[in-house]
Amino acid sequence: MSKFTTDKINKTEPYVPGEQLRDKRYIKLNTNENPYYASKFAVDKVDGNLLSRLNRYSDPESSNLTTALAKYYGVTNQNILVTNGSDEALAFAFMAYCTSGVAYPDVTYGFYDVIAGLFDCPVEHIPLNNDFTIDVASFKNKRKTVVIANPNAQTGIELSRSEIEEIIQNNADNIVIIDQAYADFGTVNVIELIGKYQNLIAVNTFSKSRSLAGARVGYVIADEQLIADLKKIKNSFHPYNVNTVSSALAEQSILDDEYFKESVRRVIKGRNELTAGLENFGFSVLPSSANFVLARHNKISGKKLYSILKDKGILVRHFSIKRIEDYVRITVGTQEETEKLLEAIEEILTEYAE
Ligand SMILES: *Cc1c(COP(=O)(O)O)cnc(C)c1O
Repeated sequence: MSKFTTDKINKTEPYVPGEQLRDKRYIKLNTNENPYYASKFAVDKVDGNLLSRLNRYSDPESSNLTTALAKYYGVTNQNILVTNGSDEALAFAFMAYCTSGVAYPDVTYGFYDVIAGLFDCPVEHIPLNNDFTIDVASFKNKRKTVVIANPNAQTGIELSRSEIEEIIQNNADNIVIIDQAYADFGTVNVIELIGKYQNLIAVNTFSKSRSLAGARVGYVIADEQLIADLKKIKNSFHPYNVNTVSSALAEQSILDDEYFKESVRRVIKGRNELTAGLENFGFSVLPSSANFVLARHNKISGKKLYSILKDKGILVRHFSIKRIEDYVRITVGTQEETEKLLEAIEEILTEYAE
């Protein structure tokens, strides 16, 4: 660090992304990307014609994508803000709504702590139950911004629609942000509740279910007034926040719904196979509604399993966080990747188990 930075930056602990190693070809099951390519229609959209327009700035409103999303979800364009990944959406929402603090589960997406620190939001970490479910009662009447990833990050466990509505209804005087990064792999999507609640913010991404992590596109859907707040921040921070190429990719992905639904089905099938395979080897696997599972084996520590798998060319994620340090988080890969992972785990359990 140089001597020129502000106190706040000196104190900031940045987010540490999952490893993106390039030293050899890994089976990459550590950052919850989709193992399947994005829609071919979307990819074909990036042609010379599109690229030749890059001398011009991107559309600051991402109008075509916004219109496609509005049509898809049955909301108006004024209910939508397109962002540079959903991390940017989360940052805008924390910037806008965290003066009286934010409350979220003790085990969840690590980025929340980082942006809360950056925007000086006081944080309340609300403990999950022993079985890693969210204790709905402890999220009522918070009088601060409530943030819930649904399905929750790291656990994959989903709240039902009625549990979420209970939380929204019992926080009528504050904002409830539902981070839906994994919602397409589950059974609940709160976008259908937007017309009903003026305090609900749905944060969504193309990174996971739509196979566009590298394109960096996210979107907020919420009441018009909330979108106006967030747009004000966007236009004060980065007016051309989404580039022309990514915006076109995302729009085509929305239009190619058949491919999207098929690839989500394949990931869910893969999740069921992965879960069954792990349970077959004696793992406890949390019930996941996402594209990853959190699993633990009582013969080998999470850290050791992670590191031996890495030596064998398979990347999974281990968190040195007390409540989940015994676990590894494994992203659902292709069928072939899951088979290779399960073979490697079988070898490890035979050779290394204490
Ligand atoms: C992956 C993820 C995000 C970030 O997604 P981007 O759109 O790629 O920025 C947000 N929230 C959760 C819970 C995630 O897992």
